[in-house]
Amino acid sequence: MFKLKGNGFRQSKKLSLTWLLTGLVTLVVLLTSSILLVGSYQSKKQSLTKTTLHLNYISADRMSKTMDSLFQSMRGSLKHGADKLSDFKAMTPKQVDDYLELMRNSSNFFNSIAVVESNRVIRNVAPASLGTAGRHITSKASMEALSLQKPYISSPYKTSNTKRLIVFLSQPIFSSNGSYLGILSGTLYLQKNNILSEVFGYNNVDGSGSYYYIVDSEGRLLYHPDKNLIGNDVSSNKVVQKLMKGESGEQQVRNTRGVEMLAGFSSVSANGWGIVVVTPIGLIHNELMSYIRTIIGYSLLPFIILLMSIIVIARRFAWPFVHLANLVSKMGNEKIVLPEVKPHWSREADLLSRAVLLAVANIQKQTDQLTHEATTDALTGLMNRRSLENTISQWITSGLPFSLIMLDVDKFKFVNDTYGHLIGDEVLKHVAKVIETSLRPDESCYRYGGEEFVILLGGAGSEDAFDVAEKVRQALEQSKAPIPTKVTVSQGIANYPLHALEREGLLEKADQALYLAKSRGRNRTVVAES
Ligand code: GH3
Ligand code: MG
Ligand code: MG
Repeated sequence: MFKLKGNGFRQSKKLSLTWLLTGLVTLVVLLTSSILLVGSYQSKKQSLTKTTLHLNYISADRMSKTMDSLFQSMRGSLKHGADKLSDFKAMTPKQVDDYLELMRNSSNFFNSIAVVESNRVIRNVAPASLGTAGRHITSKASMEALSLQKPYISSPYKTSNTKRLIVFLSQPIFSSNGSYLGILSGTLYLQKNNILSEVFGYNNVDGSGSYYYIVDSEGRLLYHPDKNLIGNDVSSNKVVQKLMKGESGEQQVRNTRGVEMLAGFSSVSANGWGIVVVTPIGLIHNELMSYIRTIIGYSLLPFIILLMSIIVIARRFAWPFVHLANLVSKMGNEKIVLPEVKPHWSREADLLSRAVLLAVANIQKQTDQLTHEATTDALTGLMNRRSLENTISQWITSGLPFSLIMLDVDKFKFVNDTYGHLIGDEVLKHVAKVIETSLRPDESCYRYGGEEFVILLGGAGSEDAFDVAEKVRQALEQSKAPIPTKVTVSQGIANYPLHALEREGLLEKADQALYLAKSRGRNRTVVAES
């Protein structure tokens, strides 16, 4: 019978089926969840981006419309003023000043208002505190406005004396007879409070980190939450370039400071300016991350429950195979207690366990039979000489003291010769039976050879052994044998460790004592000499 060391095929550490299945299933669940998470992240990102772009566009468009009507109103106000002042030459300077002051305070459109005569002299100005009345205009824009004799909106520029960034609107003043008298100009100080900053404010659009800025038709910043940037040329920005072409829309864009932005933009038809509402893309990322955290928060518990259930199912699936593998790996090492064949829900597991259990049962039966055949004597049913030698060796190894009785049937050749071999066999069986019935359960008898037997008495000294031998001898002598004559035995006794310390020597000693018993007349017991 082949025998594998330890647990059979244990070459290297192997993964168990249970762990393999559990790992695989866990991996699949994790991968699927990750894919779903990435998918929902992407789709949320797309929808957030789209929504933000669109909302920004709507804001920009709304603001541009407001700005448009505001400029229309400014123009209307200037036009009305110009009509009123058509005969300002006939009015006293005080009257004109008062009128300008009234205009400025009632509408709050402009930071300052001035009447400039066609000879470039500033005739009146409100507020008078500016002190420019009586001076000549110097800026290119004012001169252009004066010479154009048409409604005019300047580009933003810095004044030469106050270094203020300004924009002005102007309206020509014609006298009632149609002659050109000059212009009425309203000025906005871009970095100061005025109607624009009041309407739009410098604040963020909705408190979410989004903000807006305004550019003029040449791509310079007119309004920006960071006032230091006002006046800067941002025409390199792709969105600003579109605004300069009069386009409106929404677009993801990198601003002049290198930050990715979601921009909605709209141009103002009244003045050619453009309004851009932007949301830094980092804000979207923050929102996305909190969205993902929420998803994970909500799905963590169901996910864990799902995972655990799957692991339980995987283990149940693996169980029959694991069980069979464990069972089979025990074969050859120990006696297997075969479990009942339980039906499994998996067809293969069911077939396999039935087949394996049947095979194991057969092998075990055959092994038992072979073992039995190898250790017992067919004729008498006693244990054979091999068993005897094994037991003696084991006892000697474990240092257990014991005695052995060697028996030999007297004149057995005569039995064979007289009654025949078959009757001889019957006599041997009879002898074996009588010996066995005379012994206690802890005393055992072996067939040593032909008509020779050995009795092993664990823990017994020579004297005890002698008593046992005599009991056996007398039982045989008095038994009813299958032949008319009496069957007697001669016996030699040897003790371990008294007479010898190894097996062969011990058997030799017993044999010598037996020989003595024969030579002293048979049907007797002799103890070996120490
Ligand atoms: P002693 O009293 O000196 O022991 O004389 P003996 O005749 O018993 O001794 P011997 O060794 O001369 O004879 C033993 C005989 O036992 C010889 C052999 O044929 C016979 N024998 C051995 N095994 C068997 C067996 O299995 N069956 C039968 N019927 N006879 C056997
Ligand atoms: Mg003999
Ligand atoms: Mg004999």
